[in-house]
Amino acid sequence: MKLVIIGGDAAGMSCASKLRRLNENIEIKVFEKTRVVSYSACGIPYYIGGEFDDWRDMIVRTPEEFRESNIQVVLNHEVVKVNVEEKFICTTWDKCKQARENIVRYFEWR
Ligand SMILES: Cc1cc2nc3c(=O)[nH]c(=O)nc-3n(C[C@H](O)[C@H](O)[C@H](O)COP(=O)(O)OP(=O)(O)OC[C@H]3O[C@@H](n4cnc5c(N)ncnc54)[C@H](O)[C@@H]3O)c2cc1C
Repeated sequence: MKLVIIGGDAAGMSCASKLRRLNENIEIKVFEKTRVVSYSACGIPYYIGGEFDDWRDMIVRTPEEFRESNIQVVLNHEVVKVNVEEKFICTTWDKCKQARENIVRYFEWR
């Protein structure tokens, strides 16, 4: 089974982790439009308020740590289309978000 998760913050990565604990064999791929996953948004006011200096301190787990759990993480890709019938998604990629021709049929699950 292949499973796609859109969005790699608290909900998405919790879902991915739980699924991995339940089943070691599912192929799990998380698409995240920014360059970080699993960050603690609750910490933003403390960062802005100068309680700590490095924004990376808000990151709970890195993509590499998730990959060690066999959870694939695709950063800088915004999902712009989901076709459930034909089982594919389209994403923008990297720094080309405004260019329609750079929207690609990225991933298929069959
Ligand atoms: C200032 C602040 C204080 C908070 N305080 C608390 C608190 O005290 N207690 C508490 O329980 N919660 C608190 N929260 C809320 C908590 O941080 C949220 O519950 C959590 O961020 C929700 O995570 P989420 O994964 O549901 O959604 P989001 O955080 O919105 O994450 C969605 C993710 O999906 C990505 N994404 C969206 N669309 C696409 C797309 N089309 N393709 C690819 N990626 C996409 C986004 O980049 C993002 O990473 C606070 C939040 C903030 C901002």
